[in-house]
Amino acid sequence: MSQNKFQALVLREEDKKTNASIETLALDALPDEDTLIKVDYSTLNYKDALAITGKGKIVRTWPMVPGVDFAGTVVESSNPQYKPGTRVVLTGWSVGEKYWGGYSQYQRVKSDWLVPLPEGLTTRQAMMIGTAGFTAMLCVNALQAANITPQSGPVLVTGAAGGVGSVAVAILTNLGYSVTALTGDPDKHTYVKQLGATAFADGPEWSEAPRALEAQRWAAAIDTVGSKVLARVLAEMHYGGVVAACGLAGGADLSTTVMPFILRSVRLIGVDSVMLPTKDRVSAWQRIVNDLPMEVLNGITATTVSLTDVKDAAEDMLGGKLKGRVLVDVNAV
Ligand code: NDP
Repeated sequence: MSQNKFQALVLREEDKKTNASIETLALDALPDEDTLIKVDYSTLNYKDALAITGKGKIVRTWPMVPGVDFAGTVVESSNPQYKPGTRVVLTGWSVGEKYWGGYSQYQRVKSDWLVPLPEGLTTRQAMMIGTAGFTAMLCVNALQAANITPQSGPVLVTGAAGGVGSVAVAILTNLGYSVTALTGDPDKHTYVKQLGATAFADGPEWSEAPRALEAQRWAAAIDTVGSKVLARVLAEMHYGGVVAACGLAGGADLSTTVMPFILRSVRLIGVDSVMLPTKDRVSAWQRIVNDLPMEVLNGITATTVSLTDVKDAAEDMLGGKLKGRVLVDVNAV
């Protein structure tokens, strides 16, 4: 492939259906932004899976190059902060939804969206973490900012075998918290245990609506599932417990009562990674380097797929068949 031609996965809307195919593009087909990146890796996130399969309304402009995150190297930039050769990571900012994203060997983006890779992190490691791991770090930050310490008591992580959940279990364990995991699939227990979970909360009650208040079980929780699961988590919190909610893998609805809030002083904190200000991104990436030892990161299952295979992986993700993270090696078409 010549230097000016490269490959990307492109989504086009045809007869209201999403069509995903690999296309050969020229550099001048890329968006008119200030920084050109040679992409090494992207990842498969839940949102990407919805976009690629067309099963969720994620894409806001067509055609779209999906991939809500990527890591790579600056080729050229009009921003003097980003000299050629600078290794960078990008997550969020509606990239892969409204702006072209990471499933491409080259991409042009706003330099304001970039974070220089912290020392000690390769582009591959950055994407093993990706948006999911970055969001897990933000959830842990939220619990700590609310004064949850390892002495506060057990912390529940829901969707524990998923991308956000896996990294949340690993970081919390490394920081000395006692982590209980909720995972819908007992076959995933060994994996989640390896990451540090000491107990499992699984039981038939999780698919039922809870009473307004249940027995108090958790000092804190990170919820990636939403819906009935989050409703039960809230009803099971200790007095003064804190829940960081970031996901909707089980549904966007939330049917609850005010009882956990007004009788137990439970706090529910929302966590968003997409529009987070840059200064908070820089410090969260630095914290990841400090709080997620690479030997722990290597224990998080990371399957690597090519641009060709990413669609099948997206179907598997929506079917709940995956565990851990899925790396997209955009140069292994
Ligand atoms: P994954 O698909 O990797 O993991 C989701 C996990 O949730 C699954 O592994 C499964 O866990 C569990 N799960 C899935 N479906 C259901 C269901 N119907 N009922 C109960 N549990 C279910 O996704 P991610 O970890 O990447 O993302 C998790 C959520 O967080 C998604 O909703 C995603 O959109 C959101 N998210 C939000 C961000 C933000 O900025 N707020 C950023 C990144 C993600 P198990 O296998 O353990 O049962």
